[in-house]
Amino acid sequence: MEPVPELNRTTRLAELRRSLRTYEDRYGAVSGLIDISKANTALSIRQRRLNQLREEETRITGQIASMVSEMRRIERWMEFCLEDAIERTRREEAEAWSPTPIMGYRLWWIEDGSLCGVKLPWKTRTLAATCLRRGDLGEIPHSDGSCGRLGCGVYAAKTVDPLYRDFNVWSLDDFAIGLVALTGKVVEHDDGYRAAEATVVALGARLDRRVLLTNVPNMIDDVFADPSMIRMGLPIGSRRQSLIEIETYVTEKARRAEQWI
Ligand SMILES: [Zn+2]
Repeated sequence: MEPVPELNRTTRLAELRRSLRTYEDRYGAVSGLIDISKANTALSIRQRRLNQLREEETRITGQIASMVSEMRRIERWMEFCLEDAIERTRREEAEAWSPTPIMGYRLWWIEDGSLCGVKLPWKTRTLAATCLRRGDLGEIPHSDGSCGRLGCGVYAAKTVDPLYRDFNVWSLDDFAIGLVALTGKVVEHDDGYRAAEATVVALGARLDRRVLLTNVPNMIDDVFADPSMIRMGLPIGSRRQSLIEIETYVTEKARRAEQWI
């Protein structure tokens, strides 16, 4: 006899029962049958239990779905709380992750064929901060005081005034003042910022009584690679006048940048 697939068995049993009734109608009670009423009872008991289990399954599936959705809601709430705590700490510690760059001012001396900052010469218009004390540990610039009173980061002044005050610009012959866009983590101080990265977006430079003013990225990079490029600039009238020109140029570019931002 061919094996009967599980799904067809119910149909097959119904057919068999119909055939049996036909024979009983025709010839009276059929002999030689095992008592199938016991099997019927056993089946219907199991059918009831199966129905109960299916109901339970539906209930449990519903409970799982609602548990998952409650967990997602709690996770969203936690996300909000964490973001809020971090954001408040950043605000309180005057630290920013600015989506748009923060503008600042820098001064470079021109020495030995380089534009030199306080700590090191810049070879391109972009400088990424490193921390000599703590290396790459944590986010640079560090803002927990762990790397000294001043701390790491690329420094920039909020206005040009601190440059005059701290570096005696009037007495310098060859120098450059630049407007820098600060990106990544930026820590704010009274007069300036410490940033993860700074890119010079406008530069006014004086070398050998010539002044070059530019906000063209490639040209700024050329000047950082080789400051003698500044000699292509215009001859200066007086030291004082050329300094005013440089300052006016970079502050004007800052004003425009802020309008865009
Ligand atoms: Zn540091």
